[in-house]
Amino acid sequence: GTELHLRVRVAPLGNRFMLVLAADRTEELRLAGVRRDFVANVSHELKTPIGAVAVLAEAIEAAADDPDRVRAFAQRMQVESDRLGRMTKELIDLSRIQADDPLDQPERVGITDVVDVAVDRTRVLADAKRMRVVTRVLEDAEVLGSAELITMAVQNLVANAVQYSPDATHVGIGVRVVDGVVEIAVTDKGVGIAPEDRERVFERFYRVDPARSRVTGGTGLGLSIVKHVAVSHGGEVTLWSRPGQGSTFTLRLPVAETPAREETA
Ligand code: ADP
Repeated sequence: GTELHLRVRVAPLGNRFMLVLAADRTEELRLAGVRRDFVANVSHELKTPIGAVAVLAEAIEAAADDPDRVRAFAQRMQVESDRLGRMTKELIDLSRIQADDPLDQPERVGITDVVDVAVDRTRVLADAKRMRVVTRVLEDAEVLGSAELITMAVQNLVANAVQYSPDATHVGIGVRVVDGVVEIAVTDKGVGIAPEDRERVFERFYRVDPARSRVTGGTGLGLSIVKHVAVSHGGEVTLWSRPGQGSTFTLRLPVAETPAREETA
C-alpha cells in the first residue's frame, strides 16, 4: 500500500493517483471484512470446547463420590481439550501460511520425499483403524516452495482419507506429472462428499457432519490449510467424490524448472 502512494507523482498523474487510492481502499475493506469473519468464526468455534471443559469440570466436582462418573467425565474432558489443542495448532499453522509467502525464499521440494514423511506422520492414525496407505509414483518431481507446508497439506489429505473411511479399507496416493504440473491424488473408499458440499469443505471450520466431526475431533480447518498451501504455491486442490463410495482429493503444484547449468567461463 504505502509503496504505491510514494511512487505516484501528484500533478500530471492526478487521475491515476485517485484510481490507485480507490483500488487500495477496496482491497483494504475486503481484508478487514475477511479478518472480522475470521475472528467471529474463531471465537464461535473455540467457545464450544471451552464451554464443554467448563461444564465437565463442574460435573466432576458434583460427582466427586462416584469414581465411575468422574472417570467418564474426565475422559470427555480429555477429548475436548485435545480438540482445543489441535484447533489452536491449526489456527497458528493457518496464520503462518497466510503471513509468509512460500515462494519468497523457496526450497526445492521432492514430492515423493514429502509424501513419505506425510504417510509416516499419519501411520499411528491409520494403524489404529487397520488401514493401509499405498503410494504409487508414476513420475516424481520437484516443486519450489516450502517442504514443511506441502508435507502438512498432504498429511491433512491422508489423515482425512483415513478418518472418513470405514476401518480396514485402503487409501491410495498417486503421484504423476501432467504438462509441467505434479499431481498428488489421495483416494479413499470412505463416506464421500455430496455435490452441494464440495466447494464448502474447503472453507474454514466447515464440516459436513459436525456431530460426527466432534467424535473424530475434527476442527474443519484441515482442508482450508490444504487450499492455502496449494494456492500459495501457484497450484490448486480439487475434489472428486461419489457419496457412499469414496473421494479423491488432487493437489496440483507447478513443477520446478530444472536448474540451468552453471557457466564455467
Ligand atoms: P475436519 O477437521 O472436520 O476433518 P477438514 O477441513 O479437513 O476438517 O474437512 C472438512 C470436512 O470435509 C470434514 O468435516 C468432512 O465432513 C469432509 N471431508 C474431508 N475429507 C473427507 C474425505 N476424505 N471423505 C469424506 N469427507 C471428507
